[in-house]
Amino acid sequence: MEASIEGAGAAAMEVGRCAEHGKKLAYFCKREKLRVCSKCVILGSHQGHTVVPVEEALSELKELLSACSKELESKSLEQSSRLEEIDQNVTTTKEEVEALQRQVGDDFDALRSFLDAEEKALKEQIAAEAQDTLQELSRLKMECLQRVESLRTLAEPLHSALQTDNLSEVLKVLNISSDG
Ligand SMILES: [Zn+2]
Ligand SMILES: [Zn+2]
Repeated sequence: MEASIEGAGAAAMEVGRCAEHGKKLAYFCKREKLRVCSKCVILGSHQGHTVVPVEEALSELKELLSACSKELESKSLEQSSRLEEIDQNVTTTKEEVEALQRQVGDDFDALRSFLDAEEKALKEQIAAEAQDTLQELSRLKMECLQRVESLRTLAEPLHSALQTDNLSEVLKVLNISSDG
């Protein structure tokens, strides 16, 4: 038994010796997670415990490590994929923001053009209406000036008559005949 243990491989060769029995620690007690010798198992404190050769324990632990490693790798891949997804989202979001800003810019340009055109049209309308009013006022002013001129023409003989002592001339201006 001991011979087969000793021949069990490099891993078993490396494991040192039992402090109590002086034999190679060729076994692994699964209950206490300890390396033990064959006497520990047969006669010592590890009787009845489940033990396996060290290299078998190593192999099992390596399988466990491999499983853990694969799980980590899988999780890592998952995160990489998630990362790509997030990056894609960032790109999409930036593109959407740019598109939205372009759209808002275009809408406001259109709005400004519309408002500019409305402003221009309103000002032109106001100017046209004012033009009509000013023309009417100008016409009224001309009429008024003509009346003033007419009145001055009418008043002129009266002023002349006021300057004279000639009765017939005064009567003539007042359109009264002295001949009766
Ligand atoms: Zn021992
Ligand atoms: Zn044990």
